[in-house]
Amino acid sequence: MKPDVLLTNAVFPPTQARLEKEFTCHKLYEAADRTAFVRDIAPRVRAIAPFGGAGCTAELIAALPELEIIANFGVGVDAIDLEAARKHGVIVTNTPDVLNDCVADTALALTLNVFRKFPQSEAYLRSGYWAARGPYPLTAALGGKTMGILGLGRIGEAIARRALAFGMKIRYHNRHPKEVPYPYDPDPVALAKNSDVLMIATPGGPATHGLVGAKVLDALGRQGYVVNIARGSVIDQPVLLRYLQEGRIAGAGLDVFAEEPGVPPAFFALDNAVLLPHVGSATVETRTAMGNLQVENLRRHFAGKPVLTRVV
Ligand code: NAP
Repeated sequence: MKPDVLLTNAVFPPTQARLEKEFTCHKLYEAADRTAFVRDIAPRVRAIAPFGGAGCTAELIAALPELEIIANFGVGVDAIDLEAARKHGVIVTNTPDVLNDCVADTALALTLNVFRKFPQSEAYLRSGYWAARGPYPLTAALGGKTMGILGLGRIGEAIARRALAFGMKIRYHNRHPKEVPYPYDPDPVALAKNSDVLMIATPGGPATHGLVGAKVLDALGRQGYVVNIARGSVIDQPVLLRYLQEGRIAGAGLDVFAEEPGVPPAFFALDNAVLLPHVGSATVETRTAMGNLQVENLRRHFAGKPVLTRVV
């Protein structure tokens, strides 16, 4: 008999097709009465396969007594209640590494776009201003500038390699220094002070909540840029918005926001921000690889083998 798997939200369609072929899938997101739906399937559900950890609350985990594994589609597990998973002996897996290149590409694209204002200059051309008003104003160069990476992990290291190819210098801060050829700063304020662009690549969750606030942005200064491909929660978003509006930092490139998909409309009016709808890993190739890893973790678990990428 196929194991019963709960889908809390829709995943990448080809992955969903594989999940539905190999497992008996229950779609929570289609249920009219979610409480009744969970109550009905609770005696049978052995796994949750969420996209981005959606819906994996302590309440849901506690409501599923037969739950053995949460196989996440995504590397970030900040939306999953890991404490509840530990308490109930539930394995949690994610999809690391296979998305490093695409997320790092996105980080460099945002960096280029905030320094060079390519989206804004393209909008200038499309508005007919080039002919009417003359050349677009000069922007800032990337080469020779310092990128300070806050969170030099798997993705952070892929970002560093790309930034080096653009002629940038790298510094970093993690809680634990690593064996890497880049200078280490002891805290985020020191890193921001020593950087032209602060690249945020930490995990989300309580340990990094509001890590980048007024003190860090003050240290970055009026000529400094911030790029966030991590989680919206890592930046104090209202403070960031105010600093961008008041020109207290030079600009921001953001792939992630505090309450996605909601973005405060005040951001739309900013000329010094480049905004993306959380597309860091959003390519067919990378999403396919992420889905394959999610399915493989479930397969291995139900075959009695160790999972490939365990978090808890
Ligand atoms: P990773 O390999 O675990 O790297 C995270 C790095 O952050 C580590 O070097 C870690 O070092 C550092 N870190 C953790 N907590 C910190 C803290 N409080 N202060 C300073 N540094 C801290 O993770 P990854 O695979 O690179 O992924 C990083 C994150 O990127 C994910 O968790 C996810 O939120 C985000 N992401 C976003 C997208 C997107 O589409 N935009 C896609 C994929 C991933 P220490 O432990 O030594 O501190």
